[in-house]
Amino acid sequence: MRSDLGLGLLPSFRLVVLTGAGISQESGIPTFRDAGGLWERFDMRQVATPEGFQKDPSLVWRFHSEMRRYAQKCAPNAGHIALADLERDLGDEDRFTLITQNVDDLHRRAGSRRLLEVHGNVFRTRCTDSTCPKSTAFRDEALYEEAPRCPLCGSLMRPDVVWFGEYLDPIIETKARRAVMNCDIFMAVGTSGAVWPAAGYVEIARAAGARTVIVNLDPPENLRAFDEFHQGKASQILPLLLKR
Ligand code: NAD
Ligand code: ZN
Repeated sequence: MRSDLGLGLLPSFRLVVLTGAGISQESGIPTFRDAGGLWERFDMRQVATPEGFQKDPSLVWRFHSEMRRYAQKCAPNAGHIALADLERDLGDEDRFTLITQNVDDLHRRAGSRRLLEVHGNVFRTRCTDSTCPKSTAFRDEALYEEAPRCPLCGSLMRPDVVWFGEYLDPIIETKARRAVMNCDIFMAVGTSGAVWPAAGYVEIARAAGARTVIVNLDPPENLRAFDEFHQGKASQILPLLLKR
């Protein structure tokens, strides 16, 4: 394994990093594939789809409240911190973009700011009425038994996350694609390459001529699209790769 990306040699490179559940695994948040954990106790079709929310909003709120409470107890690990440190070192807006599929807020807590949360964040909530502007930060650890109502219009509030079968926020998705199309190095970390559209970003980067790198415990489904595969734990590999 190369011990760095050669970042110091390229003063004008642009790096895009896409992270998935694997980067938070060592913080104690189970990935979809890990046995045990939250995902096995709840049926995803009931708690992470628009149909599930329509049927039983309180169950959906209980699941997301548990996730919030769980994530709040976990801390960012050396992988999250290496990414935040790099962003701070580069200091120039256009050179670094972090795209995450995670909803756990750990990148922000590690200090990342040039962050596109394409699947939202469990610590935010928004009104189900798309014409209502109500959207709030949500830090409450309480386990909601009832879905809360919007203080402005009385509609149900929902977690500000993207559920299965929903589209990504078009503004965030456009920003993510633009960054991917214009990068010199595209790096994916801790993602199985099975969830779209993020699984397709590597092909976009590759078509635009970027070098493509993946850091993952297991070979991802889209492995063939990567020039380099660094197999192992993100918390061990990222600090080495991103060393400047
Ligand atoms: P995934 O669960 O499908 O795959 C995780 C990948 O990470 C696997 O390929 C695994 O080999 C790898 N991995 C596990 N531990 C690792 C480690 N320590 N270091 C490096 N790699 C490791 O995850 P996904 O591709 O992100 O897709 C799951 C979807 O579910 C995402 O859309 C995400 O929004 C959501 N999700 C989020 C969280 C979170 O916010 N932390 C957790 C689970 C699922
Ligand atoms: Zn409202």
